[in-house]
Amino acid sequence: MTGKWSTPGVPHKGWVCDGVEDLGAPDAVCEMCESQDIRYVHSMSHPDYEGVLDVGCVCAERMEDDYVGPRRRERALRGAARRKSRWLDRRWRISSLGNSFVNTDGFNITIFQNGDGSWGGRLTEKATGRFVTARRRYESEAKAKLAAFDGMIFLKDRRGWGG
Ligand SMILES: [Zn+2]
Repeated sequence: MTGKWSTPGVPHKGWVCDGVEDLGAPDAVCEMCESQDIRYVHSMSHPDYEGVLDVGCVCAERMEDDYVGPRRRERALRGAARRKSRWLDRRWRISSLGNSFVNTDGFNITIFQNGDGSWGGRLTEKATGRFVTARRRYESEAKAKLAAFDGMIFLKDRRGWGG
């Protein structure tokens, strides 16, 4: 048991995944075991834990006690890789506020710059008006767009998102 698995007060079960992101390479370290290099980042939250842990598939499986969902999420991203490779080249429109956006797959995806110069994004489901805003801050508009793509795939893959 390494990292937060052996830290008192960190729950072992009952976590929920809020999103998954493909970094394109193993560029992060799992925040739960604090040892595994990870490419697919599962963002996990828990009612009894403040903040979010970005973890790998193996830890996500244990934290959710679900040995199907985390792999399915990664598969959905891998299946969308070709489309993602063209994502930045598609025609992005500019909103009246000057933000890049696209309407696709039932979502409005808007990219914006934060006050500190970093970039973020928001996905709004057009049918319901429900939206999610990127928790992370990205160093470039392109990275925020790519993260928004992963977010869209995650929401499409998740049955009954928001619940
Ligand atoms: Zn881990």
